[in-house]
Amino acid sequence: GATLAGAPAAAGEPLYRDTSATVADRVEDLLERMTLDDKVGQMTQAERAAVRSPADLTRYRLGSVLSGGGSSPTPNTPGAWADMHDTYQRAALATPLGIPMLYGTDSVHGHNNLHGATIFPHNIGLGAAADPALMKEIGEITARETTATGPRWNFAPCLCVARNDRWGRTYESFGETPELASAMTTVIDGLQGPSLDAPGSMLATAKHWIGDGGTTGGVDQGDTEISEEELRAVHLPPFREAIARDVGSVMISYNSWNGVKLHGHDYLINDVLKKELGFEGFVVSDWAGIDQIDGEEGFTAEEVRIAVNAGIDMVMVPYDYPRFVELLRAEAESGRVPMERIDDANRRILTKKFELGLFERPFTDRSQAGTIGSREHRDVARQAVRESQVLLKNEGGVLPLDASARVFVAGKNAHDIGNQSGGWTITWQGASGAITPGTTILEGMRAAAGDPSRVTYDRRGRGINRSYDVAVAVIGETPYAEYTGDRPGSMGLDAEDRTTLDRLSAAGVPVVVVLVSGRPLDIAGRLGDWDALVAAWLPGTEGDGVADVLYGGHAPGGTLPVTWMRSADQLPVNDGDGQDPLFPLGHGLTYDNPAGPTGSARQD
Ligand code: BGC
Repeated sequence: GATLAGAPAAAGEPLYRDTSATVADRVEDLLERMTLDDKVGQMTQAERAAVRSPADLTRYRLGSVLSGGGSSPTPNTPGAWADMHDTYQRAALATPLGIPMLYGTDSVHGHNNLHGATIFPHNIGLGAAADPALMKEIGEITARETTATGPRWNFAPCLCVARNDRWGRTYESFGETPELASAMTTVIDGLQGPSLDAPGSMLATAKHWIGDGGTTGGVDQGDTEISEEELRAVHLPPFREAIARDVGSVMISYNSWNGVKLHGHDYLINDVLKKELGFEGFVVSDWAGIDQIDGEEGFTAEEVRIAVNAGIDMVMVPYDYPRFVELLRAEAESGRVPMERIDDANRRILTKKFELGLFERPFTDRSQAGTIGSREHRDVARQAVRESQVLLKNEGGVLPLDASARVFVAGKNAHDIGNQSGGWTITWQGASGAITPGTTILEGMRAAAGDPSRVTYDRRGRGINRSYDVAVAVIGETPYAEYTGDRPGSMGLDAEDRTTLDRLSAAGVPVVVVLVSGRPLDIAGRLGDWDALVAAWLPGTEGDGVADVLYGGHAPGGTLPVTWMRSADQLPVNDGDGQDPLFPLGHGLTYDNPAGPTGSARQD
């Protein structure tokens, strides 16, 4: 029988159900009652689409289920999410000890898997905004919208320090310095709330430990070939800060450090993360991350043993969880994975489950579902978009636009919610088009101009002529995620953008370029043709925040979180080689101060 929250356990109730007992005592009591099957199950995380039936949560005692990038219930509504979550939860609670499962998801820029949620700028833009208080608020809203649909665990924030713009995850980074990522860890305070069991709070994850942004050539999941001194100086500090903020979990990275995969790295996980930094939460693997330890497809008993002994507490399997359970059980029974290790992993996981209040309130608190995508939440996202805009060039003061100006807008990213949101939006890779409700940059401009007839639009720039006061090209990248976004070759503009720009330039009116991209692109060769340039990053659903800056409702204040290359062969441009970039780290102009906050404006 369930105990009322706050009330002492009824006579005969086990101590772990007693809410007046300490979490530590409850954990020890529960641990003593658990079988090896219970313990192995707690360390196992399965992907929702791979779970053959909810009954498997009971059968295998699974401790966790996740929605990997874009894996949403059908229909993709708050109610369907909550029903899915609660169905799995009921099955978890049907085990003899009734240990609740913990549902995890990637809410990396808002509850981005849910149609209709508020989508914030990706981290690169938030690094440009560099506003720790706003970052905390974004965490609060993300947790409120996500928990209202079930999940109490977020695989965010990504604290990677992106050192090479060729990397397809550069946009998941707050920037190329450890200081920026460290400052933005306030998002953890927002996600985890005043306490983990407070309404609308969820467990945060610092990811990916460690060196994900430092691989040679910017290759996703590659090898970070740097000294320990550099690893500690560049990639470790944000994690130290996250641990100081009591982050509940840490995710291991796919990369290697000097040839050794992090998923089997005893020294970096057990010694550095847990012992030296004193991380007391639990460590989760990345998606099938243990499979890569030996470089072969799938996972083996040896990989299970190496990963768990190296300090991984929960494995994101994610598919063949029956086999994982069987292998880990055998490793534990043989003593190749010591029982103390199994108990330590369970202690860490169960401590967080108790702290989250999952034993008392295992089901979705749907009371906040009405706030999902609300005006109030979108206004905060719009503010984040405004603050993230970086004005890189503004010749002759072409910006801000006058509301009365006749403006011609073109470009593939002017009127496309999917493109302005980037990867990790509705689906893992994101997609072009009207994938979720929001305001496009064009719509925002039309609203800012007051009279929409002052803003003419053609995606490819056809019909531009000299009767316009100014042309605005909204161009850049289209959505991608992870390795599919790696750019080993060209970092330049695509053919469509070049054609659009050629049309606008030929019309002889001033050209403003708004670059919607996850990273700096190779644009130096064309910059001379443009009167103004704004880096808009990947703003998310609130495109009116971009328009606010273009029309002067908000003066630009963002500064570059990454060095902007002069040409792609400079990459990595921040390796201390004394290269001459197009725009230095920290560059950003505003309307009042044309020299820019750093006073180092370069305008080619
Ligand atoms: C990514 C992680 C993510 C996980 C679950 C992996 O491919 O590297 O960042 O949390 O998938 O979706």
